[in-house]
Amino acid sequence: MARYTASSCRVCRRQGSKLFLKGQRCYTDKCAFDKRSYPPGQHGKGRRIKFSNYGLQLKEKQKVKKIYGILERQFRKYFQEASRSKGVTGSKLLELLERRLDNVVFRSCFAASRPEARQMVMHGHVIVNNRKVDIPSYSVRTGDIVVVRPKEKTTKRVKESMEKLKDRGFPGWIDVDLEGLRTQITRLPERTDTAADIKEQLIVELYSK
Ligand code: SF4
Repeated sequence: MARYTASSCRVCRRQGSKLFLKGQRCYTDKCAFDKRSYPPGQHGKGRRIKFSNYGLQLKEKQKVKKIYGILERQFRKYFQEASRSKGVTGSKLLELLERRLDNVVFRSCFAASRPEARQMVMHGHVIVNNRKVDIPSYSVRTGDIVVVRPKEKTTKRVKESMEKLKDRGFPGWIDVDLEGLRTQITRLPERTDTAADIKEQLIVELYSK
C-alpha cells in the first residue's frame, strides 16, 4: 500500500501550517512548527517564496491530501464524486473526506492522529454497525455506530489515550460515548465542522482547469 514516508513535521513546515500529523505531540511545546515556523532545509529560514496563483492552488491541494493521508488518485476520485453531487463542490469534497472511517476514529479521539486511526481500522479494531470494517476509506452515513472492538488490550490502550485527547473536543456531527468507546453519526458533516483554514475553492479552481 502506497503511503507518505517523509517526516511529518517537515511536511508541516513546508506547508507553512500545522497539519496535526503526529498526534499528541502536535498539542505540546515539542511541535516542530511552533519551534521553527519556516521551511526546512539549510536556506529555509531566509528564503521568501512568492507563490503564483497555480502554486497556491497546488499547495492547498497538497495540504488537504496530507491532512487526510490520501494520495493523488484517491483524492481525484473524491473530487470527481464531489463535482457530480448537488451542492457546493468544495464543501462536498470536505464532507466526503470527513466521512472516512479513519477520520471518524480520529475525530472521536479513539486515536491520537489520523495515521494511528488508519492503522487501528486496518488491524480490525473498529466495528461499524456490528460488523468489522477494516477499510480506512469506508464512508460513514447518518445513524452509523462506530465502536472500538471490545478486546481488553485495545480498550485499555484507547481509554488511556482518550484521557489525554478528550480536551481536543468533538465535532457536532458525532455523538461520542467516552465510556463505551462508541460513536454515533448524528448527521453529515458540514463545512463549519471542518478546519477553517482550508481554502477548498483553490482546489476546485485547480481541478477545473
Ligand atoms: Fe506538524 Fe507540529 Fe504535529 Fe509535527 S508536531 S506534525 S510540526 S503539528
